[in-house]
Amino acid sequence: MTGDGTRVVRAGLPEPRANEPALPGPAFAAHYHLPGEVAGPYTYGREGNPTWTALERAISELEYPVGDPAEVPAAETITFPSGMAAISAVLFSRLRPGDTAVLPGDGYQLLPALRERLEDFGVTVRTAPTGGDAQLGALDGARLLWIETPSNPGLDVCDIRRLADAAHHRGALVAVDNTLATPLGQRPLELGADFSVASGTKALTGHGDVLLGYVTTLDPELAAAVRAWRKTTGAIPGPMEAWLAHRSLATLQLRVDRQAATALALARALHDRREVTAVRHPGLPDDPAHAVALRQMHGGRFGCVVSFVLPDRAHAERFLAALRLVDEATSFGGVRSTAERRGRWGGDAVPEGFIRFSVGVEDTEDLVDDVLTALNFAQSHGV
Ligand SMILES: *Cc1c(COP(=O)(O)O)cnc(C)c1O
Repeated sequence: MTGDGTRVVRAGLPEPRANEPALPGPAFAAHYHLPGEVAGPYTYGREGNPTWTALERAISELEYPVGDPAEVPAAETITFPSGMAAISAVLFSRLRPGDTAVLPGDGYQLLPALRERLEDFGVTVRTAPTGGDAQLGALDGARLLWIETPSNPGLDVCDIRRLADAAHHRGALVAVDNTLATPLGQRPLELGADFSVASGTKALTGHGDVLLGYVTTLDPELAAAVRAWRKTTGAIPGPMEAWLAHRSLATLQLRVDRQAATALALARALHDRREVTAVRHPGLPDDPAHAVALRQMHGGRFGCVVSFVLPDRAHAERFLAALRLVDEATSFGGVRSTAERRGRWGGDAVPEGFIRFSVGVEDTEDLVDDVLTALNFAQSHGV
């Protein structure tokens, strides 16, 4: 199998043809020429688009690599206009009234809102924390297990293989939110998951200019149900967004490797500060998530997020305002570093001084210097 850097630059590209671009531009089409009988892959724009097809093939090749990239991928991917659309497609295409679903209690901030919607439809929802594989204790009678590892924003990690085996033993399907790791950091389908689902808005596309989501699965029936859900709800990505996402994939390995290396350097630097507590990054050797992360994640790519706690809200705000190379913004995974005081949103169970820091692709030394300078400022200007 070729290396990740080689795979990302070619993923999903058509066979080279004389006088054609390597990555054909976005196909803007609400409908396609369709003479006579209804046939072929492209009929109406809500059902299919060649720009989606190319991106979906690329993501399939990354989520579940098989030998020669020229082969048809074994996995199928269905893209969506956002991560939430992708997550909703899996949950609502699988769950029926009377079913039980197990969600992480510490996952993405909109999971509680999804829980309410599911309960409105007669689905019973249980939650358990990601750390310590605590969801194992909630699986009896479940139809579907939802895993988020590493979790956002707490950065806990669970053992996908262990949870998937236990869930399958009880007849439950398993979906993993792979947003933070990206398919270069973690391949849930190889670890037994039925679905790998992600927001492509974050590190996958990495430029902070596109919202996107996807669902990848090896099971053609599950793929067909998710595809039918997309068609029925009309939750389709725009061709421009799909094309931008595909173009961005070529630099995925460069970005995630730089981001992971800098995130680890930053986590180490934060560790040495007295006013900083609860530094979390799965790459830190003494992090509670490290052992499992090391087993199931690839190439030291433990993600671009570092979280930590400053003494209080005012201290955190002084720190954020003093950063020069880091934008105060939500989201993560982009080429430009961002940070925010997560508590400003409400919804996550985090302390007032909790910072979620997303490391970009700046030079490591510059970024660490900027953070240390801002910490010094925040410390010395306290009231
Ligand atoms: C951002 C995010 C989502 C939602 O994705 P959108 O593209 O913003 O809809 C889902 N899961 C995780 C872990 C996320 O970080």
